[in-house]
Amino acid sequence: MIETIRPLIAKHLNRILSIRWDIHKNPELSKEERKTAALVADILRETGMEVRTSVGGHGVLGVLRGRLPGGTVALRADMDALPMEEKTGLPDASFVKGVMHACGHDVHTAMVLGAALALAEMKDSLPGTVKFIFQPAEENNPEGGAPAMIREGVLKNPDVDALFGMHVWPALETGVVSTRPGALMGASDRLFLTISGRGAHGSEPENGIDAIAITAQVITALQTIVSRNVSPLDSAVVTLGTISGGDRYNVIAGEVRMEGTVRTVTPEIQDRMPGRIRSIAEGVAEGMGGGCSMDYVKGYPPLMNDPGLAERTIGKLKGILGPDHVVTAEKPALGGEDFSFFSREVPSLFLWLGCRPAGVTKEEMAPLHNNRFVPDEKAIPLGVEVLVFCALDFLESRKGEGERK
Ligand code: MN
Repeated sequence: MIETIRPLIAKHLNRILSIRWDIHKNPELSKEERKTAALVADILRETGMEVRTSVGGHGVLGVLRGRLPGGTVALRADMDALPMEEKTGLPDASFVKGVMHACGHDVHTAMVLGAALALAEMKDSLPGTVKFIFQPAEENNPEGGAPAMIREGVLKNPDVDALFGMHVWPALETGVVSTRPGALMGASDRLFLTISGRGAHGSEPENGIDAIAITAQVITALQTIVSRNVSPLDSAVVTLGTISGGDRYNVIAGEVRMEGTVRTVTPEIQDRMPGRIRSIAEGVAEGMGGGCSMDYVKGYPPLMNDPGLAERTIGKLKGILGPDHVVTAEKPALGGEDFSFFSREVPSLFLWLGCRPAGVTKEEMAPLHNNRFVPDEKAIPLGVEVLVFCALDFLESRKGEGERK
């Protein structure tokens, strides 16, 4: 199978790379992906496949029906860029001031389009259906673009049996892919706390309720959630990233506001966090005579890879790429990723694609969401190859089975 895939990808490679640069130079923010979506739809239509546009915002769905009966597999890419000024100094850097593809979504879109170009040529021997899902607004946590596309039925009719997605990963060197069974990316929630006391003259604490003194205790007590309420074999992060309160050096503060983020790796732990935080923050504040109000915005759920699909795919990929090029990740990463919404609906696998050029150390490589982030272009053909292989291999495994409606 791999002997058929590689020449097809090689044939389309220049086109795939130029699509990638085209998208890179014309980045669009979440929910504004009009031009990117139009470019995606045009290329998909060129292959003769069925194309739906404006699916859950600027989402695009391509449906490639193979000539032979079989199951349905889907590949997903995200299309949006970030509100930051590109500082890579590349000749093909962003043309749009203050907007940059700093999370590699330009690469993801180009790779899934590349997979579509290659798979469309294999239509006559394709046992089943391949769906190509291009989602908007991945960066728009907590309202990512995935739920709207799911509501509009992209996983239905025919029902998707397995879904694959990929993210460029600068910690890994080019030539390597990595993933793991179970949790791969964390849930990312947002927390707002307001501690209230009563202002008074700084020399007369007995007449006030010091919101700053309360806050100091609340911050310390919140750290016990991770150390005392989460199993040491699981993990979570409670980070308070901002704090502001008080008006003057000699006035007891009447109010303090804090904002933070909570990261977890299983749906169960994610669900427990708001209750623990509220109970500790309110309990401590009330115990000291003050009050506390909390706003908790649940963001993307944890991204859970289907264990069976992960094990099977890791094994198969080792076979075609060599065992050194396929790494089972030891730990999940705690960044949020709204592929997780799809992974709650159908058996899914998300993979990390190494994009750190040879000779560049991890310290030298700019991370995701950095305005100097430059993923290695040499990773792109491997990414397309893995996506095409995952799709084909899955359909081959279901060969002869009918569509599920
Ligand atoms: Mn991303």
